[in-house]
Amino acid sequence: MAKPKVAFYWCASCGGCEEAVVDLAEDLLKVVDAVDIVLWPVALDFKRKDVEAMKDGAIAVSFINGAVRTEEQEEMVKLLRKKSGLVVAFGSCAHIGGIPGLANFWDRETIFERVYKDVPSVRNPEGIYPQQKTKVDGVELTLPEFYDTVYTLDQVINVDYYLPGCAPPPDLIMNAVTAILEGKLPDKGSVLAPDKSLCDTCPRKDSKPEKLSIKAIRRPHEVIADPEKCFLEEGIICLGPATRSGCGERCINANMPCRGCFGPTKGVRDQGAKMVSAIASILGVEDEDKVTEEEVESLVKQIDDPAGLFYMYSLPASMLRRKRMG
Ligand code: SF4
Ligand code: SF4
Repeated sequence: MAKPKVAFYWCASCGGCEEAVVDLAEDLLKVVDAVDIVLWPVALDFKRKDVEAMKDGAIAVSFINGAVRTEEQEEMVKLLRKKSGLVVAFGSCAHIGGIPGLANFWDRETIFERVYKDVPSVRNPEGIYPQQKTKVDGVELTLPEFYDTVYTLDQVINVDYYLPGCAPPPDLIMNAVTAILEGKLPDKGSVLAPDKSLCDTCPRKDSKPEKLSIKAIRRPHEVIADPEKCFLEEGIICLGPATRSGCGERCINANMPCRGCFGPTKGVRDQGAKMVSAIASILGVEDEDKVTEEEVESLVKQIDDPAGLFYMYSLPASMLRRKRMG
């Protein structure tokens, strides 16, 4: 019997999601045995024309990681959508925009200016930017258009399932692959991870404060956090209250606060806004003995780059989507 065809593709991403597949270790052999991989640019030499030659729907499932920020990525994900029965947004960047999505605080012009002119290590006296078309020895070379805005995968094509995380952990990947192979998938549109907040599963949850009595907000590099205490108790912002569980509390176990890579739980429309509201509720001033209004204001001012912090992974998927330039 023919094995189901599977494609892996990467858009705007760091390559960590590709490593997560390799991190399946011996389970990768089970996957390779059960499926026929027809596209995996990081590992195998299949070409776009090979995918174009397939019948529509011929690929059982495409796992696409990375956000969409260039014309080529848009074309490829639309091609894979046409050729695939199922599309899984694999990892934070495809799911909610991820770290590449922070570029939505700028636009192409400001990014190019910084990268190709202002960075101290760049020498570009004529201020030349990459061109979409250029001639070298009479031969025209092309580059895909670089968009002003970074998009989540489901802002460009229909997505059937989401595997969250930066990168998705091996157990969730194997659960998803097994569910696909056995045809035991949940409702379309589901995120293939528990619908609980990270605080619900965190080993430090018993010390999570209802009201904060801290005098300062501290960044992780400024202090060695007490490994027994909730980060919020120590004045270190942790996005656990606004983030879905399922990662195995990876950062917490490494004594680092959560930065929100799993995205929000089902009922939360905007992860950053949820975190602002979680912080606001524990910085409440009802208990006069604990925090005064002035102290709250002073604490809020100590949060460096709140937009970048609260929307570290989710800006493109948020209600804000991007900063309005000009
Ligand atoms: S805020 Fe962070 S450290 Fe505190 S309980 Fe939630 S996930 Fe754990
Ligand atoms: S603790 Fe937060 S940032 Fe770290 S892996 Fe888990 S969800 Fe992602």
